[in-house]
Amino acid sequence: MASDSLTDRAKQATKIASQPEDYKVCEGCESIVARRVVFCPNCHGYRFNEQAQAVIDQAILLGGRERTSVVSDDLAH
Ligand SMILES: [Zn+2]
Repeated sequence: MASDSLTDRAKQATKIASQPEDYKVCEGCESIVARRVVFCPNCHGYRFNEQAQAVIDQAILLGGRERTSVVSDDLAH
């Protein structure tokens, strides 16, 4: 059900873009993570871009196409 997951992703992207102050973008793997986390749950990075515009841009990017790299599999190297 790729279309369903894409819809979910788009919904989540919309939610994130509507409240970017709750999120930040990992500079290691470009995942969107909750603002409260200290280390990225995907790559364990600790550098984040907390600018609202960066969060919105990334949410749109992730929501707008099929992409699986937000989960950790291909980041394990
Ligand atoms: Zn990361």
